[in-house]
Amino acid sequence: MSWLVPLSDIQFGAEEKEAVLRVLDSGWLTMGSITEAFEEEFKAYTGAKHAFAVSNATVALHMACQALNLGPGDEVIVPSLTFVATANAVRYTGATPVFADILGENDLTISLESIQRRYTPRTKAIIVMHYAGYACDMPAILKWAYEKGLPVIEDAAHAVGSSLQGRHLGTWGISGCFSFFSNKNLATGEGGMLVTDDDHMAAKFRLLRSHGMTSLTWDRYQGHAWSYDVVDLGYNYRIDELRSAIGREQLKKLDANNARRKELTTYYKQLINEQVPAVKIPFEAHTGISAYHIMPVLLPKGIDRIRFMEGMKREGIQTSVHYPPIHLFTSFRSLPHGEQGLELTEEIAAREVTLPLYPLLTNGQVELVVHALSLAFNSNR
Ligand SMILES: *Cc1c(COP(=O)(O)O)cnc(C)c1O
Repeated sequence: MSWLVPLSDIQFGAEEKEAVLRVLDSGWLTMGSITEAFEEEFKAYTGAKHAFAVSNATVALHMACQALNLGPGDEVIVPSLTFVATANAVRYTGATPVFADILGENDLTISLESIQRRYTPRTKAIIVMHYAGYACDMPAILKWAYEKGLPVIEDAAHAVGSSLQGRHLGTWGISGCFSFFSNKNLATGEGGMLVTDDDHMAAKFRLLRSHGMTSLTWDRYQGHAWSYDVVDLGYNYRIDELRSAIGREQLKKLDANNARRKELTTYYKQLINEQVPAVKIPFEAHTGISAYHIMPVLLPKGIDRIRFMEGMKREGIQTSVHYPPIHLFTSFRSLPHGEQGLELTEEIAAREVTLPLYPLLTNGQVELVVHALSLAFNSNR
């Protein structure tokens, strides 16, 4: 299917291509000086003390859970309105994800009150997710979590370039997990970054990323080490130099790209409020700086979403849904606490539609999307 306006698009220039070619010419393909430079630049950009480039955000989330020694019998409170990776990371450790509700129509992030209702003596951690790059209420969540002695992991897959009160998202909790998947704001294909300010966590992350080995191939190549010990159960969650090279170039373009996403979001809001005011746009009152990863809208109750999305498709506009709630998936239904009290998540997720958003989108294309939206909406009423 060739879309008039696709949901997302990537933007690579000569810079990324040349950077990849330089890596190929260098003859060193994995975890070397380019990855180190990418990590340094990412630290400088986010203000994090430590940063570990990894294969993707899913493994970053797994490492973050593993470093907290989570296991069978432990519970981790997570949102249900997120990508399944947020909850899978918990399950990899043997711990149980316990789903919390969202705040409401205007804020699709996790509700502290719902977290508090899910709290039990078995709760060992919380994972929050900054939906579309809009910050969760980190000051309130961290204050309560601190009182309970609970670490908070941030799924910051949408939030590269997002901040709240001047502090980059992903650096508020014990660790933050970023995704560089192809459709994310900073894209390397597969790829991710795990950040922390905690030296103890950082030491564990270094081991978890590479088989629990005390020295890496790169160290030995540089003449820093002759052999190694294996001191913990680790994984191969490394990134390679090709992706790190792309990531460094994408990081340079990130602020400009996010600024364009912001302009487009503002334009969408203006046109939708004028032409189809019954369609609501969440995060109207958001106070932080968002990365504007996606453009979610909420249909009024009683509109058939499938028919609406088919109407958009007829006009050549690709739309999507963020997200089908995790607790309703077959593989999650049988978990304890699966289906209690997630009324807002279920009700609002069923009305959510994601519109195209990417830096190369033109204002004219936004007008096309909103025109299609009003056609699809009016033929569905
Ligand atoms: C994309 C995404 C992930 C997973 O990222 P990968 O890099 O593809 O593993 C996790 N959480 C959220 C919210 C995401 O959007």
